[in-house]
Amino acid sequence: MTNFDTSLFTAKQLDEQDILAPFKRQFHFPKHQDTDVIYFCGNSLGLQPKNVEAAVLQELSDWKNLAISGFAKAQNPWLTYQEYLKPTLANIVGAKADEVTVMNTLTVNLHLLMLSFYKPTKQRFKIMMEAGAFPSDQYAIETLVKHFDLEPNDAIIEIEPREGEKLLRTEDILSAIAQHGDSLAVVMFGGINYYTGQLFDMAAITDAAHKVGAIAGFDLAHVVGNVPIQLHDWDVDFACWCNYKYLNGGPGAIGGLYVHEKYASNPSTPRLAGWWGNEEAIRFKMEKGFVPKTTASGWNISTAQILNTVSLKASLELFADATIERLREKSIQLTNYLEFLLHQLPNIQFEIITPKNVAERGAQLSLYFLENGKAIHQKMIDNGIIVDYREPGVIRVAPAPMYCSFEDVYRFYAILRDHF
Ligand SMILES: *Cc1c(COP(=O)(O)O)cnc(C)c1O
Repeated sequence: MTNFDTSLFTAKQLDEQDILAPFKRQFHFPKHQDTDVIYFCGNSLGLQPKNVEAAVLQELSDWKNLAISGFAKAQNPWLTYQEYLKPTLANIVGAKADEVTVMNTLTVNLHLLMLSFYKPTKQRFKIMMEAGAFPSDQYAIETLVKHFDLEPNDAIIEIEPREGEKLLRTEDILSAIAQHGDSLAVVMFGGINYYTGQLFDMAAITDAAHKVGAIAGFDLAHVVGNVPIQLHDWDVDFACWCNYKYLNGGPGAIGGLYVHEKYASNPSTPRLAGWWGNEEAIRFKMEKGFVPKTTASGWNISTAQILNTVSLKASLELFADATIERLREKSIQLTNYLEFLLHQLPNIQFEIITPKNVAERGAQLSLYFLENGKAIHQKMIDNGIIVDYREPGVIRVAPAPMYCSFEDVYRFYAILRDHF
């Protein structure tokens, strides 16, 4: 591991040694007093890659000039538009290309996948999730169990940290799974908790779920493009994610979905279908009787959403170049550097909520300031540093390795050092 110190010189040197540094120039930054802001909110909405505009204009031009013929004759024929994204996305989540697809948006996909995999019986009807999951996931699961005429209080088990702790211990998650045993239908966790930044051991959770005969699914909103994972090898049953956070697909961009091939290749796996998931060779015969594609695309419902997918397609070209492995390598160093600098601030009372262990976190650190939280946030904004603030004094800092530099992290530290 690199030996860090508190000099600006070291920050600049780390940037010089960073082979991914040039990617920063591939992004548009909002301006603050005529200079680019420092952007640590890529965990909420990624920046716009510079190649997006031309890609969008290409689709607008093909629509203008080709109309219906664009499905076959556009520069990127619309008929097979989802296919273009699969290789890179599959690589990012450690899946086979046939195990991933893009469609709808995250919460919609979570509903659809739960309807495929949650088959409550009198004996087996519980869904386990982490306490404090992202609200949309909580609402989705709450309304799902009500849809099956079950009581959320009976059917949903939320795993909480131990008394006095803020993070979940893997051993506690695993023993809770074992304890609920054959009453457990689905274990559905966020891969990284959006608030604490804790990265869960998805392989171990999946194993434990399978041992008691339950399904394991993950919401990867804060994982994709942040931490490399191996969904297929870990035998994860299903997963879904949004593409507008670390993957920079743009506000409300098309969502992503993974279904393990053992289910995807089986036409009898239940699902709510539409014509776009139908076997392509016979889709346009418009006949009765749904014949699913034997890939994750068998979950696609509607016509490819070109204008909602094009920016993600453009952004993924950068990920294919940078590679998720190299991004993670830089990300670990960048976040460790942030952590190191924060520990050089003896006058500031704060706690890093996010795990210390690199294997249990991604890019984000959640900082709980015991005093001045709001003032610190304001000072950052006044100095052109965009970070997220949540009561009571939590600032989430996510240095995305694609476009954040070591000097950016240094600037954040310097403001704390000089003003608080
Ligand atoms: C960002 C996020 C969402 C947002 O869902 P949308 O349907 O895209 O609005 C849901 N769940 C988690 C865990 C998230 O981080």
